[in-house]
Amino acid sequence: MKIIFLFLSLLFIPIALADDLPDLGEVAQTVLTPQDEQRIGEEILREVATSNEIISDIELVDYLQGLGYRLASNGPDNRQNFTFFVVRDNSINAFALPGGVIGVHSGLILNTSRESELASVIAHEIGHVVQRHLARMMAQQRQDAWKSIAAMAVALLAARSNPELAGGAMMASQAGMIQKQLNYTRDNEREADRVGLQILTKAGFDTRAMPAFFEQLMKSTRFYEGSAPSFLRTHPLTSERIADIRNRVEQLPYSQVVDSLEFQYMRAKLQAMEGSPQQAIDRFKEVLREKKYSSEAAQHYGLAMAYERANALEQARQEVRWLHANTPRQAVVETLATHLEFIMGKPHDAEKEYRRALADFPGHRGLIYGYVDALLATGQPDVALMLLGTKQELYPDDAHLYELQSQAYTQQGLNMLRHQAQGEAYFHRYNLPAAIEQMELALQSGNGDFYQMSIIEARLKQCRQLLGEPKDKR
Ligand SMILES: [Zn+2]
Repeated sequence: MKIIFLFLSLLFIPIALADDLPDLGEVAQTVLTPQDEQRIGEEILREVATSNEIISDIELVDYLQGLGYRLASNGPDNRQNFTFFVVRDNSINAFALPGGVIGVHSGLILNTSRESELASVIAHEIGHVVQRHLARMMAQQRQDAWKSIAAMAVALLAARSNPELAGGAMMASQAGMIQKQLNYTRDNEREADRVGLQILTKAGFDTRAMPAFFEQLMKSTRFYEGSAPSFLRTHPLTSERIADIRNRVEQLPYSQVVDSLEFQYMRAKLQAMEGSPQQAIDRFKEVLREKKYSSEAAQHYGLAMAYERANALEQARQEVRWLHANTPRQAVVETLATHLEFIMGKPHDAEKEYRRALADFPGHRGLIYGYVDALLATGQPDVALMLLGTKQELYPDDAHLYELQSQAYTQQGLNMLRHQAQGEAYFHRYNLPAAIEQMELALQSGNGDFYQMSIIEARLKQCRQLLGEPKDKR
């Protein structure tokens, strides 16, 4: 839990300066209420939504959310909300934030060779959340200390990409002290392992992956002295802890678990984003040549992605042909295939392909986004709006669907609706000042009826209230 650890250390600074250290040896008497935690979680999400550190590729987002929900729904507490996101960071780590917000580094996905390994780490984080470890730690802080916790989380998200920033130095000086005060987290670790393992079992993953992956992490630190995987620095791992997990696993029935194709494909997608396009192409070619893969199809998929990055579109299409000939029809492959048609200057062909693919995979957002792009490029805003209307029922909080809607209204020359939709997009991206600006423009356009205007006014009022409200106000 890198970030938690980081911002706890920042939290301690003013307290330490005030020479008023809380006694962390005592067991917490209070826990943050779920409402408090939820509110802090929302503030963090607001910041996360605008961070460049977050991977916004919709297929990666949906994959991780799907995996996360599958695990969380098998947890002991079904009332807890969860949000999962991918952080663009090559180190092996995952972390939990208040309100059930869980971040997974792209490096973790890249460095797990099986889906059950990735699931193990996420299940462990869910374990920390449902056991309310954070809520307990934070309840020990004075209220004013965690008030601006979201802002700190973001500053740290930014500082991670630039360790020279102030936060790093401060952190180092505080780290030793904090570490001593957080001794009880070893119990938390054991508890998170235990709950994580239950979740893994119920969700149908291979439980042996948990001790195996943790052990592999521990071994790898011996080779990279001084640069232990982040996960180990933040979740202290001991041989004893691994042995404990292994004992539990041995008492569980064993079942063979096959990785989902999505896991293989999404990992390949991340690999295709690594390094220069040519480097990515060379890597996939080498793996294919030497047959060093667990899924040949995923390698062809990744190679197609890398070719697309290099703008070698004909070669990319050739890989897609291989996939069509050798694998069952899949949403992510269809998204890529249709997207290639589109950017190769065949929007009409792409539009037909999208329509066919969406009939097979009606909820796949990669296809929905692409289809709307193709409809707008071929001058069919009315069809686009009809499609968006039905898909917004599936994804009512999807900001990008509102952006697409705004583009469609722009094509139709409908100014009020265009600004309103753009305002909704900003609202769902937690950018309240921009949302207010768009809602005001919508009202000024003056071509709506009373009913439409009152909806816009209500949203405008809500935005102003949210913005004006002091952050610590209940
Ligand atoms: Zn942990």
